[in-house]
Amino acid sequence: MTESTKPPLTIRMNDADNVAIVANDGGLAAGTVLPGGITLVDRVPQGHKVALRAIAKDEAVLRYNVPIGFALKDIAAGCWVHERLLHMPQARSLENLPEATRKIEAQEPLAGYTFEGYRNADGSVGTRNILAITTTVQCVAGVVDFAVQRIKTELLPKFPNVDDVVGLEHAYGCGVAIDAPDAIIPIRTLRNISRNPNFGGEVMVVSLGCEKLQPERLLPPGSIALKADEVLDVVCLQAEKHVGFMSMIDSIMASALPHLQRLNARKRETVAASELVVGVQCGGSDAFSGVTANPAVGFATDLLVRAGATVMFSETTEVRDAIDQMTARATTPEVAQAMVREMAWYDAYLGRGSADRSANTTPGNKAGGLSNIVEKAMGSIIKSGTSPISGVLSPGERATTKGLIYAATPASDFVCGTLQVAAGINIHVFTTGRGTPYGLAEVPVIKVATRTDLATRWHDLMDVNAGRIADGQASIADVGWELFKLMLDVASGRKKTWAEHWKLHNALVLFNPAPIT
Ligand code: CA
Repeated sequence: MTESTKPPLTIRMNDADNVAIVANDGGLAAGTVLPGGITLVDRVPQGHKVALRAIAKDEAVLRYNVPIGFALKDIAAGCWVHERLLHMPQARSLENLPEATRKIEAQEPLAGYTFEGYRNADGSVGTRNILAITTTVQCVAGVVDFAVQRIKTELLPKFPNVDDVVGLEHAYGCGVAIDAPDAIIPIRTLRNISRNPNFGGEVMVVSLGCEKLQPERLLPPGSIALKADEVLDVVCLQAEKHVGFMSMIDSIMASALPHLQRLNARKRETVAASELVVGVQCGGSDAFSGVTANPAVGFATDLLVRAGATVMFSETTEVRDAIDQMTARATTPEVAQAMVREMAWYDAYLGRGSADRSANTTPGNKAGGLSNIVEKAMGSIIKSGTSPISGVLSPGERATTKGLIYAATPASDFVCGTLQVAAGINIHVFTTGRGTPYGLAEVPVIKVATRTDLATRWHDLMDVNAGRIADGQASIADVGWELFKLMLDVASGRKKTWAEHWKLHNALVLFNPAPIT
C-alpha cells in the first residue's frame, strides 16, 4: 500500500489523549512531520495510533480520554502504538457503579417529521409489507424454501402490494435442552420475530410434527393477535393427510393465499417519525468507526429520540468497558441495575466458555487499528448518542417503550441483527469500516461506511459515506441529518438500500445459550 500524498492528517478524540489516529489513505511514512511538529518514528498505517508525546512504561494510553491500555515499555513520541505495545485494562467491576447520576438536559422535541408506513392492529408500524412463514424447526427448512420459491413465482405477481415472502428459518427447534432456563432466549426470539411490524400480524407456521418446539409452545394463545374464533394457522408436514411432497407444498401455498390477500389490501399511510423503531449496530469495525460513522449514527440517534422514536443499541461486549458511563446515563436506578444485570449475565456466560470480553476483537479490527476491546468499545458506544437511557431489553424481548433502549445482545453481527428483529425494529442501521455486505430479508438495512476509501470501492453496497467527516468534507451533524432523512425515505419505501437492491440476506441466527442434546 502506498502512503498518502495528501498533507498528513491525524485525529485526536479528546484533548487529554496521548495518541491520535492517522487519517490518510495508505497511512504515513516514517519521517513524516505532523502539523503539531512531531516526526513519525515508524510508518503508521491508516487508522492506527501514533504517540503524541513520550509514554513511559506502565503509563495509560488514553483515547476518548479513557485508558485503552498500559504501555508494556517506554514509547517515544512519533512511534506507532499498536496492540503488541499495550497491556489491556481489567474490566470495570460491576459493584458501586453510578446510577442515573448524570443530569442530561432535555433536548428540544423534533416535530414535523413523518414517513409512509403500514399501521398494524397491535399499534406497531411496518416499513415493508412482507409475508413471513414461521418455522418451528430446522427440519422443515428445505420444504419451506421450495414453497417460498413457488409462492414467489406463482402467487406474488398477483399481489403487487406485497413486497416479499420470507421463510423464517433457523437452527433451533429440536435436539435442544428445551427446558433449560436459557432456552427461553431462542424461543421468545422466534416468537417475537414472527411479530415483527414488517409482517403485518399475518402469522403462519410450518411445523414438522415431532419436534420439541411445538407450535403452541412457540406461539401460545394470546401471543399473537388472533380473532376470538381463530386458531393458529399451522401446516404440519407429518399430518396424515399429506401423501407425497407436493401435497405439503400445495398445503403451504393454500395457507399463504389468504395472508397474501390481506397483506395486499393494506395501504401505506402518513405516520409520525415517532413510529420508527431503529436498531443500530456496527460490524467489521476499524479505528474510524468511532471517529466518523458511529458519531454520525449517535447524532441521528439523538434526532430519533427527540422525534419520539424508539432506538436501540446493543452488543454487550462492546458496552461492558463503558458500563459506568452507561449506568450514569440511565433515567432511573432501576434502568441502571437492569444494565448491570445484563452485563453480569454475559460475564458469566463468557466465563462458562472460559472466555471474556477480549474474545470480541477480530484480526480485521486489529488490522484496522483497534488494539483491543476497550478501544473498540469506546468507539462502539458512540452510536448511542447522548440521550438518557430509558429502557433495557433482555435478549429476544420486544420493545414496548419509546426513547433510547439498551437491547442486550451479543456483538456478533448476525446474532445481534436477529435479536433486534425480535425486538421489533423496522429500520436497521449498520456501520462498517472494513466492509461487510450484511443485509436482512426482514428489515431494511442502511449501511454506513467509516472511510471514503471503502465507500468508493464498495459504491454499490454502502448507503452513506461517513468518511467525508475525516476528509473534512462534512460535519458529524451533516451526516447525522442525512442518515435521519434517509431512514424516513427508506421507511416509506421511497428508497431501497443497496442490500435490498441486490437482495443480500443473512440468515437468522438465534442466540441459544442453552445446551444442545
Ligand atoms: Ca456487531
